[in-house]
Amino acid sequence: MANSVLKLPEESLKRLIEHYRNKEINTKNPHARFAAKLPDTMVTVYSSGKVMFQGAGAERETAKWGVADRSKEKTSKAKGDELPPDFATRSVLGSDETGTGDFFGPITVAACFVPARQVELAKELGVKDSKQLTDEYMRKIAPDLKAAFPHSVLTLSNEKYNQVQAQGWSQGKIKALLHNQALKHVLRKMAPEKPEAILIDQFAERGIYYRHITQEQDIVRENVLFSTKAENLHVSVACASIIARVAFLEEMDRLSKLAGVILPKGAGAIVDEAAAKILLSRGEGFLKSITKSHFANTKKAQTLASKKKRT
Ligand code: MN
Repeated sequence: MANSVLKLPEESLKRLIEHYRNKEINTKNPHARFAAKLPDTMVTVYSSGKVMFQGAGAERETAKWGVADRSKEKTSKAKGDELPPDFATRSVLGSDETGTGDFFGPITVAACFVPARQVELAKELGVKDSKQLTDEYMRKIAPDLKAAFPHSVLTLSNEKYNQVQAQGWSQGKIKALLHNQALKHVLRKMAPEKPEAILIDQFAERGIYYRHITQEQDIVRENVLFSTKAENLHVSVACASIIARVAFLEEMDRLSKLAGVILPKGAGAIVDEAAAKILLSRGEGFLKSITKSHFANTKKAQTLASKKKRT
């Protein structure tokens, strides 16, 4: 169980907050009244009176305060393979990707091996739940993680992405191929040592994942587990997630230099605006070379650009 939720009366909440007071951290969540970070568990108290426990120690901490609200737990619980209770302390090769929802910039995938004896080291190097990490923080710790652990990171350029996408490859297929490749690279670096398990942050269910890569020569199958929110289940996935994110940021830096503006992340209205400006100043070909051109942002940018031309 990675997550659980309790609803507690005010009196119990006060005791709980006092109990975790020395582990308190600042939270930016506007609905949170208190947050604490234990070595293996995040505790968040919401203004609604609910308490969320996240991470490998969630079950243990929950048990101190009551019985988890199973109905809520279902919605927040990770989907995927059932993992053994001591999974977080095992030797695991994890993988994760980023950039899939960003109009500008690449997709990056990383795999990272953290052996049981170095799980604590990863935490000492600053790895926490990636949802709580800022880009700047990740840039700072990524070099240490790369130096400490066998890893592989792949950056799929926009040119290559647009080319295979035009051939009919789905994002799922692109991701599956990159995960398989990154995992293969790390397994090769680690040999003859083998991970106890491989954990892929699940973006597709096992059957679909393997269907995407049936044509590949070398398919990593041994001890492969899939789970959503896998970065909370083993620190190797959290490391992979950070390494992938920093590779994405570095490519965004490079493309921003090329474009002469800081390229925004995501796929929202700011992105349309930036894309329209680039379209007017540098043309369609250049815009395409730095974006995932099949996103709806391309059309929106064209519409915006033609309006700007008229005014
Ligand atoms: Mn992921």
